[in-house]
Amino acid sequence: MTARFPLMIPLEEARTYVLDRCSRKEPIFTPVNDAFGLVTAVDVIAKESIPPFANTAMDGFAVRSSDVAVVPVQLRIIETIAAGYAPKLVVGTGEASRIMTGAPIPEGADAVVMVEKVSVKGDAVTIETAVQAGNHIRPAGDDVTSGQLVFAQGTVLTAGHLGVLCSLGMSEIATYPRLRVGVMSTGDELVDDCGPLAPGQIRDSNRCTLVSLLNGDGFVAVDLGLIPDDETAIESALLHGADRCDAIVTSGGVSMGDFDYVKAVLDRVGDMRWMQIAIKPAKPLAFGTIGHTPVFGLPGNPVSSMVSYELFARPGLRTMMGFPEPIRTVIQGIAAEPLTRHPDGKTHYSRVLARYEDGRIRVRSVAGQGSHMLTSMARSNALAVLPNGDGCREGDVVDLLLLN
Ligand code: AMP
Ligand code: MG
Repeated sequence: MTARFPLMIPLEEARTYVLDRCSRKEPIFTPVNDAFGLVTAVDVIAKESIPPFANTAMDGFAVRSSDVAVVPVQLRIIETIAAGYAPKLVVGTGEASRIMTGAPIPEGADAVVMVEKVSVKGDAVTIETAVQAGNHIRPAGDDVTSGQLVFAQGTVLTAGHLGVLCSLGMSEIATYPRLRVGVMSTGDELVDDCGPLAPGQIRDSNRCTLVSLLNGDGFVAVDLGLIPDDETAIESALLHGADRCDAIVTSGGVSMGDFDYVKAVLDRVGDMRWMQIAIKPAKPLAFGTIGHTPVFGLPGNPVSSMVSYELFARPGLRTMMGFPEPIRTVIQGIAAEPLTRHPDGKTHYSRVLARYEDGRIRVRSVAGQGSHMLTSMARSNALAVLPNGDGCREGDVVDLLLLN
């Protein structure tokens, strides 16, 4: 059973509790084309070199540098080498091969003169500029040598990483799997069609915001629907979700109200802790596990659910996906105006607009800080972390979570 009035606990304590129960999934082989944003589960060792052969960085003529030490000099053109073809002839003294960017350097040649520095007449080329050995040649293994450690375990794969894997001829890579995260809204007042609202009804916005946050963070969101405030319905939706998904995010039903059944059900079918966290918004959180499936019971107020996602669900899910830094890095900005608040024992996460101006990140509050006022989320791009107290004055340094 959970205590009816638990003490408020600091954010770090609540988050440690959550992260301790979010274990990394077993690695799998993932096609490189699907691996964007995933985390490598092993060290990647190159089995090939990049580039695989010495080639030219310029369109021009492959020459012997000793032939072009004194210029101008005329050389005989013996062949044309296009990218994708192997040279057939050896470049001898007094000879040159016409060569296109990316084509292999022919035997005998040790430099390339770019086409802009020559004049051609029939099968003769006049070189106008002296070049050194190695000029415009990209040696084999210039970027990666076979046998080298390319990326360590725990690398977050970006487009650049994936390009390197393709260059190495790898079609799949051992990563932590992309999580499937179920999302459900709970509440009898909610509707999810566009028809007229009956008295007391409001429209469900949390499922859309949470699905978008999850997909934007590289998880696969699974819509588990809109569930009424009914213990049996919530229980079967949670069990069904735990079956199909790696984790579940719910919203609503974790406060102190008479019909807040999510925490009651989680307490019964899972191993759940209900926390009151010393933050505003997003004070209540029910976190539990059903079997091995973590369930994040986020508060229902639209802003609270998004802030709770940022502070608890996102770090927990990133931990499960093997991210070395699951928690967003706090950066610092300068308050361009006072960011006021009142002492209440909580850390406030205020919606702000952070803009890069005159070499600094300057922070301004957005209007409508109520946890039901979702337009403040739409107009902001960051949360300012305001410790318990009166807020900060213009010019003060302020901690920020830059959301987008
Ligand atoms: P609860 O956490 O269930 O007590 O809900 C707190 C507040 O958030 C209430 O005003 C609810 O109507 C509202 N709310 C709960 N779920 C949603 C939702 N999915 N979309 C929009 N508002 C919601
Ligand atoms: Mg509710």
